[in-house]
Amino acid sequence: MQQYISQLNEAQQAPVFQKDGPMIIIAGAGSGKTRVLTVRISYLMSLGVDAFNILALTFTNKAAREMKKRISDIVGTNEAKNLWMGTFHSVFAKILRIEAEKLGYPSNFTIYDTQDSVRLISAIIKEMQLDKDIYKPKQVYSRISSYKNSLITVKAYFNNPELMEADAMSKKPRMGEIYQNYVERCFKSGAMDFDDLLLKTNELLNRFPDVLAKYQDRFRYILVDEYQDTNHSQYLIVRALSDRFQNICVVGDDAQSIYAFRGANINNILNFQKDYDNVKTYRLEQNYRSTKNIVEAANSIIDKNKTKLDKIVWTANDFGPKIKVHRSVTDGEEGRFVAGEIFEQKMRNQMMNGQFAILYRTNAQSRAMEDALRKRDIPYRIYGGLSFYQRKEIKDVLCYLRLVINPKDEEALVRVINYPARGIGDTTVEKLTVAANHYKRSIFEVMEHIDKIDLKLNSGTKQKIEDFVTMIKSFQVINEQQDAFVLTEHVCKKTGLIQELKKDATPEGIARIENIETLMGGIKDFIEGQREIDGARGALSEFLEDVALATDLDNDTGDDDRVALMTIHLAKGLEFPYVFVVGMEEDLFPSAMSMNTRSELEEERRLFYVALTRAEHQAYLTYAQSRYRWGKLTDAEPSRFIEEIKDEYLEYINPMDRGGYQYKPSIDLDIFGDIDKSKLRLAKPVTGTPPKTYGEEPLSSLNIRKLKPVSSQAPGNTNLFDSKLTVGNTVMHERFGKGEIVNLEGIGADRKAEIKFEVGGIKKLLLRFAKLDVI
Ligand code: ATP
Ligand code: MG
Repeated sequence: MQQYISQLNEAQQAPVFQKDGPMIIIAGAGSGKTRVLTVRISYLMSLGVDAFNILALTFTNKAAREMKKRISDIVGTNEAKNLWMGTFHSVFAKILRIEAEKLGYPSNFTIYDTQDSVRLISAIIKEMQLDKDIYKPKQVYSRISSYKNSLITVKAYFNNPELMEADAMSKKPRMGEIYQNYVERCFKSGAMDFDDLLLKTNELLNRFPDVLAKYQDRFRYILVDEYQDTNHSQYLIVRALSDRFQNICVVGDDAQSIYAFRGANINNILNFQKDYDNVKTYRLEQNYRSTKNIVEAANSIIDKNKTKLDKIVWTANDFGPKIKVHRSVTDGEEGRFVAGEIFEQKMRNQMMNGQFAILYRTNAQSRAMEDALRKRDIPYRIYGGLSFYQRKEIKDVLCYLRLVINPKDEEALVRVINYPARGIGDTTVEKLTVAANHYKRSIFEVMEHIDKIDLKLNSGTKQKIEDFVTMIKSFQVINEQQDAFVLTEHVCKKTGLIQELKKDATPEGIARIENIETLMGGIKDFIEGQREIDGARGALSEFLEDVALATDLDNDTGDDDRVALMTIHLAKGLEFPYVFVVGMEEDLFPSAMSMNTRSELEEERRLFYVALTRAEHQAYLTYAQSRYRWGKLTDAEPSRFIEEIKDEYLEYINPMDRGGYQYKPSIDLDIFGDIDKSKLRLAKPVTGTPPKTYGEEPLSSLNIRKLKPVSSQAPGNTNLFDSKLTVGNTVMHERFGKGEIVNLEGIGADRKAEIKFEVGGIKKLLLRFAKLDVI
C-alpha cells in the first residue's frame, strides 16, 4: 500500500489520508483525480473498511472496470470483487432488482434502451393520432427524459401549470398525456427506461425509510468521479445515501462539465460545500498527463469562460511539440491528412494505432475519417455509434431472450411476434394492443387468453397466437434447466431466426450470422465469468441487464490495436499520446445549436478544453473550408476556438493560415451578455458592402483579422512585403489564384502590389495582409 501512496504527490496524498467526512477534490484535467480515487479506496480497505461498505460511482462501465482492476492489483482480486463500483445506472439497476416489488415492478423487470423507448413513444403518438412532425418521437423522448431527471413525475407535471404552458407554447399541448401513456405502458410491460433507474431509486429511498436506512448503512463510504456531470436525480441519490455517515468524497472539474444538454447540473459541484457540514476541499494543481504546451494552451482557452472556479494547472513535463493546425479544402482532404499523419508518425516514432485518437463534435464526421483510414489500411474503431447489441439481428435474438425473462415486455414482443414471419400481421397486433390497453394487461397476457376474448380473429390466427405463446413458454422451461448459452442456441433454431438469415447469401447476410455467433461467444464468456465470481447465478437475466446498460465503450477489450474514433463527449476521462480534434469550424464546433446563450457557448468551450486535454504528447486541430452537411456542400470557416489559443502554442502546418483568412469583425462576445444568434451571425464573413477598403481590394478578401503589424517572426508573408517581391514575379493568392506583379509601391507596412490575376484582372493588395506565395 505504502508504495502506491508514495507514488502520489503531497497534494494527492492529503485526500487519501482523510478517512472520514465530506470532501471534494476540484482539479483540472490530468491532475490525477481518478488516480486519487483509486488509491483512496485501496487505502480505506487497508484500514479495515469492508469492501461491501464502499460505493464508487464512475461515468462509464469501462472506467469502473479499470478502477477495479487497479484496486485488485493493490489489495488483491478477492477483496476488490466485493466493491460496489459502476455507473449510477448499473449500480442502481442492481438495487432496484432487489427492491423492485416494493415499487410494484417484477424483479425481472426489463430495461428499455433508447431505441425501445423511442419506438414506444412513436406508437403512442400514432395511437393518439397526433402529427409526428410536431410531436417528433425523439424530441418527445428527451423531453420526458428531462422531466424524469428533474424528478417531475406525471402527477407533478399535471400540477405544474408552467410546464404545461411551456409545452403548449411549443405546440405540444398533449405532451402530458403522452408522458402519462408512456409511463403506464412501461409499467404494464414491467419495464424501466434508463431515466427510471434513477427516478425509481429516488422514489424507493424517499418512500421507504427502512430501505434508505439499509443502504445508508451499507454504503458507509461513497466516492463519485466526474461529479460535475451529475444530474439532479443523481445528486439526490448521493445526498440521501450519504446523509447518515457523511463519508462522501466527490471529485470533478467544473471546467469539464459537458452534459448540461442531458440535464447535468454544474451547480452540484459548485454548491457541494453548502450541502454538508465541514467540507474539506482539496485542490490538485500538477498535471501529469500532458506537455507544457498542451496544458498552457488549454489553460488559455478555459480562461475565456466567465463561469468557472479559479484553478491552477501546471506541469513539470517537457514543453513538447506545438499544437499543429491544419486547413484543408474539403472534409475528404481533412481525412486524408489525418490518416497520412498517423501513418507517418507511426513510421517515424514506432507508435501503435491505439496511441491515436480522432475526436469530433458529431458522429457524422466519422465517415470521412473512416474512408481515409481504410485507404491507408490503418485499423480503427468507432465508439458510440450503433452498439453491437443494437444491430438488428442481435436485437432480434435479445428480444426473444427478454420475452423469456419477462413476457410482459411489449417492445420485445412487438418486435419479434411476427419475425420471422409467422402470419401474425399488423392488424392482429393492433387488435391485441387495443385489448391490452383496455384490460390494463400486457399483450402477452391477452394472447394467453385469446380463446376467451372476442377480437374477431379467425381460427387460423388464433392458432398462430397460441403457438407463439407455447413456444415462449417452452423457452422458459429450458431456461429453468439449462444455461443461457444452450437456451440461446435453442431459441435461434426454434424461432427460425437462423434459417431466415441463411436465406440471404450476400456478404451482409453472412456477416449477420457471424454477429450472432459473436453474441453466442459473448454469452459463453459471460457465463464462465459468472461461475468464477459466485457460482452460476441467474445468468440470462444478468446478461441481459449488462447488455441493456452496455455502452459501446464497454465492449472495448483493448486487445486489438486500433485508432480510436469517438465524440469528444465520450472521450471524457480518457487519454491518448496523439489526439486529432477534427472539424474545428464555426457552426460545427462550436455547434450552431449552441450559440444562443453565453452559457451554451461556454459549455462548447469546456468541451474544447476536454478535447485538448486528452492529449499527452501531440494535439492536432484540423478544419476544412467546405464540408457536406445536411446533404449539401456548405462553406465553413475556422472555429473561433483556434483563434482563442495564443499563437505561441500553435504551429500552422501551412504557415499562411496563421491568423485566419477571412474577414471577421472582432466582436467581443462579452459585451452582449446572453447574445442572440442574429448578433453572433455578425461573426460570419460579411457579404454585400464591406465596411472599408484598402486600395481597390475590399477588406473582406484580405486578412485583417489581426490588424497589428506582422512581427518579424511571423512566418509566411513577412519577407514578402520586406523586399523579396519584384515586378514580374508570378504569385499565388489564396482566393484570386495565379497572377503577375505589375507594380509595387509604398514601404514597410504600407507596401502594396498591383497584381494582374489570370482571372479577375488587376487588383491592388496591401502586402502585409495579402496571402501570396511566389511560385
Ligand atoms: P481527467 O480530468 O481528464 O479525468 P484526472 O484528473 O482524473 O483527469 P488521471 O486520469 O487520474 O487524471 O491522471 C492523469 C494521468 O496522470 C494518468 O496517466 C495518471 O496515471 C497520471 N498520474 C496521476 N498522478 C500521478 C503521479 N503522482 N505521478 C505520476 N503519474 C501520475
Ligand atoms: Mg479522471
